[in-house]
Amino acid sequence: MKLPIYMDNHATTPVDPRVLKQMLPFFTEVYGNAASRNHEFGWKAEEAVDKARRQVADLINATPKEIVFTSGATESDNLALKGVAQMYRQKGNHIISLPTEHKAIGDCCKRLEKDGFQVSILPVRKDGLVDLDDLRRAITDKTILISIMAANNEIGVLQPIAEIGKLAHEKGVVFHTDATQAVGKVPLDVQAMNIDLLSISAHKMYGPKGVGALYVRRKKPRIQITPIIDGGGHERGMRSGTLAVPNIVGLGAACEICQKEMPQESVRMQGLRDRLQKRIQSRLDEVYINGSMEHRLPQNLNLSFAYVEGESLLMGINDVAVSSGSACTSATLEPSYVLKALGVGEDLAHTSIRFGVGRFNTEEEIDYVADRVIETVDRLRELSPLYEMAKEGIDVSKVSWASE
Ligand SMILES: *Cc1c(COP(=O)(O)O)cnc(C)c1O
Repeated sequence: MKLPIYMDNHATTPVDPRVLKQMLPFFTEVYGNAASRNHEFGWKAEEAVDKARRQVADLINATPKEIVFTSGATESDNLALKGVAQMYRQKGNHIISLPTEHKAIGDCCKRLEKDGFQVSILPVRKDGLVDLDDLRRAITDKTILISIMAANNEIGVLQPIAEIGKLAHEKGVVFHTDATQAVGKVPLDVQAMNIDLLSISAHKMYGPKGVGALYVRRKKPRIQITPIIDGGGHERGMRSGTLAVPNIVGLGAACEICQKEMPQESVRMQGLRDRLQKRIQSRLDEVYINGSMEHRLPQNLNLSFAYVEGESLLMGINDVAVSSGSACTSATLEPSYVLKALGVGEDLAHTSIRFGVGRFNTEEEIDYVADRVIETVDRLRELSPLYEMAKEGIDVSKVSWASE
């Protein structure tokens, strides 16, 4: 077993060697511009792009013409939100989203608000899921877009996408989902789930960084978006710019592997995740799970450890790559806005850890990570007077502290 151990697969994933192998010829051998229509170099590149387009489409039950290649999910999210907002402006100015969305959605919503759109950010329940009755009530005759993510990048919870899609279509509202964490991990079907727009990123599914896609529905109903990048008219005018052929080939290959291996892989991922959870929770008390365990990616575990300090915990497990629920923004340590939206208190938000299990993790690594966490939490709690008091049955929240 090699240290450090990478268990931060929601931040990014390594490129699968099988994906890399398919990409390599497109740097030095088949290097044509896919838009060059008059020679062999261009045709070969275009052929590769067409194949990738089909591989991406197949994974989500779309058609190749509905796939627009982008630089990643941030761009796909921007194109979806700003593109719909601009295109449907005559129809209405109201957009609905959630507080737990990725910044690519949250910051787009803020920008659109500045541009005169009205954005409703619905609360989520304690388990991280949207309340469908809240959603139904929030829709008005001015609502043009609902953007709700498929799987959350911190707590892995899966929103009821099919129910949201059904509701959106009943009400004639466009439905976008940021499915960056869900694509290739759990089944997604844009037809069965009534999804109109769906964001994808390659580097979260063992493909290269800097490439992604936006699915744009062409029928029932036909969705139109205003481009945010002009010039050259690539991708049916929706996203100009020379196609990144090697990256696109990588995205396609990553999609095909995920589609083939998803049934077995998701079982294996859940086995590893559950093993990690059981091992930790059998040895430590006062460990809290953030987000629904029932509606969740098989790869994700997000735990808060009471009576330890977040930074000390992370430092104690410094040969393990995971993420914490605190984000260092300038000098202050801000607790995760996702956990905050679930109603997790500051203390527990600061001591949360996101484990992102991935394709290349092993059982041995899972056990090592669990044991490192257990050791570290035990050690930190031994130094904690609060933990000792709590163990003695004193309600720590009711203790009044001397001011000096
Ligand atoms: C990673 C991520 C993004 C951003 O994707 P990039 O391809 O890195 O721009 C957007 N949304 C979610 C949910 C993500 O996890």
